[in-house]
Amino acid sequence: MSSSFSQQIHKRTLKLMGSRFDITVVDKDKITANQYIDIAVEEIQRIEKLISSWDKNSQTSLINDNAGINPVKVDVELFDLIDRAVQISKLTDGAFDISYASMDRIWKFDNSMKKMPSEEEIKMSVAKVGYQNIILNKAKSTVFLKQKGMKIGFGAIGKGYAADRAKDLLMSKEVSAGIINASGDMNTWGKQPDGSEWKVAITNPLNKNNAFALLPVIDKAVVTSGNYEKYVTFNDKRYSHIIDPRTGYPSTGIVSATVFAPKAELADALATSVFVMGIEIGLNRINQLTGIECIIIDDQGNIYTSDHIKIDNQ
Ligand code: ADP
Ligand code: MG
Repeated sequence: MSSSFSQQIHKRTLKLMGSRFDITVVDKDKITANQYIDIAVEEIQRIEKLISSWDKNSQTSLINDNAGINPVKVDVELFDLIDRAVQISKLTDGAFDISYASMDRIWKFDNSMKKMPSEEEIKMSVAKVGYQNIILNKAKSTVFLKQKGMKIGFGAIGKGYAADRAKDLLMSKEVSAGIINASGDMNTWGKQPDGSEWKVAITNPLNKNNAFALLPVIDKAVVTSGNYEKYVTFNDKRYSHIIDPRTGYPSTGIVSATVFAPKAELADALATSVFVMGIEIGLNRINQLTGIECIIIDDQGNIYTSDHIKIDNQ
């Protein structure tokens, strides 16, 4: 067989949704591979337009602008995403909450924070957080944020959702295998051209050069949330970008949470949730969910795994 007819890996790296995406497809032909990658990119950009809370013209911004005022009619796609996000809030007892977003007026991770917010500011701001106040009307496809000042944001679920959609689209075009990797959120299908499985390297953020496990990712997603990229430091204490919606303070104790799940959206949301739930409750909750596994690393470098993950040389 001539090599020009054999399956090969084609990869493109670009910035989407404010993050680095690596899109990989397996195809015999470079030109068609690039066309497939274009399709994935367009899909991710389409979703970004829908869910971005930075884009003043997005439906998401319209919902936020109408908090405490009016229900807003949105596309079924956005309605359903918000509906699923609220279900994940229920599943995690509110650890995951897209209405955490009003806190981004207090906690900013773009180097603009000069001092620790006061207890009073945090208290007032967290009062606006609460998925129970996201009112959904399925028949009318409307979303209403009940309180003035409330705000939703998809920082913890949007990349996963976009990765799922891009993967589904390419699978529907009969692309045999690939990876949508959104800054380490990996979503795979099929196999590598040599017949081997796609694998993910799990690293300890406290010792980044050394991957301690290489695990297969077979037609599923693996997502890592970490506090080693976006954080602020006050009085030698590191405050991460994952906020406990119940207290308004950044979560502490965990430095990295990796979740394996059939869908990137759920993996993404649960990785964030585990941060907030903490090691014990997080592991317990994950162990109750079929087909979902996790690996947690705490700030002492200890490694914890859910019931069905076995790692040697810990
Ligand atoms: P990353 O985007 O760095 O991979 P995550 O998937 O864990 O990390 O998402 C973290 C982002 O989610 C934060 O930057 C913020 O936008 C949002 N977020 C923070 N806390 C919560 C929370 N408790 N529930 C839902 N979203 C959150
Ligand atoms: Mg997440």
